[in-house]
Amino acid sequence: MGEGHISGAARHIRQSAWPSAARRKDLASALAAFPRVRLGHFPTPLEPMDRLTEHLGGPRFWVKRDDCTGLSSGGNKTRKLEFLMADALGEGADTIITQGATQSNHARQTAAAVARLGMACHILLEDRTGSADPEYTLSGNVFLDRLHGATVAKRRGGADMTAEMELLAVELRTAGRKPYVIPGGGSNSTGALGYVNCALELCEQSATMGLKIDALIHATGSAGTQAGLVAGLAALESDIELLGIGVRAPQDKQESMVFELAKRTGAGIGCEEAIRREDVRANCDYVGAGYGIPTQGMVESVRLLAELEGLLFDPVYSGKGLDGLIDLTRKGAFGDMENVVFLHTGGSAALFGYTGAFNLPGYQAN
Ligand SMILES: *Cc1c(COP(=O)(O)O)cnc(C)c1O
Repeated sequence: MGEGHISGAARHIRQSAWPSAARRKDLASALAAFPRVRLGHFPTPLEPMDRLTEHLGGPRFWVKRDDCTGLSSGGNKTRKLEFLMADALGEGADTIITQGATQSNHARQTAAAVARLGMACHILLEDRTGSADPEYTLSGNVFLDRLHGATVAKRRGGADMTAEMELLAVELRTAGRKPYVIPGGGSNSTGALGYVNCALELCEQSATMGLKIDALIHATGSAGTQAGLVAGLAALESDIELLGIGVRAPQDKQESMVFELAKRTGAGIGCEEAIRREDVRANCDYVGAGYGIPTQGMVESVRLLAELEGLLFDPVYSGKGLDGLIDLTRKGAFGDMENVVFLHTGGSAALFGYTGAFNLPGYQAN
């Protein structure tokens, strides 16, 4: 993160916080070339967090409410699934296979999307945390996967989940099904189009509201969200500074994953050349002991926002992202910026898999 300020090289080259109407129109037509099924409520609201702003000082904080995408309690995977499910339908699939960690929000949103489209859903859950707490292994997203009618199977932590999905696909094909495999997090160049679309949506909102957005911060995991935003903002020639807060991989690996996927996503919408390595920035200082393992900073941040803004963030992703946002603000990283947007990627269902981590005074499981 360097010495405080997050401003990168982008400023000198990119033109304006309000991408021209022509750029926005070009990107909208590039996106329109891809099949999409409507699964969510868009545009999601862009709202001020004035009590947080008052609490922290510094820039004015906003929240882009992708926790309100509408599908099975919402979240960022819904945008990706609009493009992925359209692709699956185009290929004549009748069954979807995907994978994630036990409390995967992606698995839950996929199960809901598949239910809505009348297909069958097979989910493989990887035990990444080793937790045997029944709340973690059965409540929250795990309960919702089942409620949406998905078939759920478990795999040990560290399993080759891509290979496991391929094995299952072979089995289902032999049984006469037409499976379509969605990678973990829905993060490939098709799914990432959902976040190209989000970049466009956010820039439309900022133009309509006359709001100059200086920076956009969000939790980054399987990379599709950030890759789509990088590609979309590059296509729009936006000078919004984008920062992912990592939840799993170290910085080098996270940034490489995002860059590689942003390039492939950009190729699909004709802006590959505009995507530069220095536009991909992740801060991975807030992961703690590992993916899905609570940190003190996450607990405090989730509680703070619940109490100050009435907003629910999650323990695995958005809560750690928020920890990064708050800590970096306290360290002066946003300098003299005026408006900083936190992209709320959802995940509140996972809270119910983690109530013990919050140690709320007077609150006991029994
Ligand atoms: C999946 C997820 C993310 C991370 O998005 P990626 O596209 O996987 O990087 C962030 N927040 C929540 C709540 C998620 O479920």
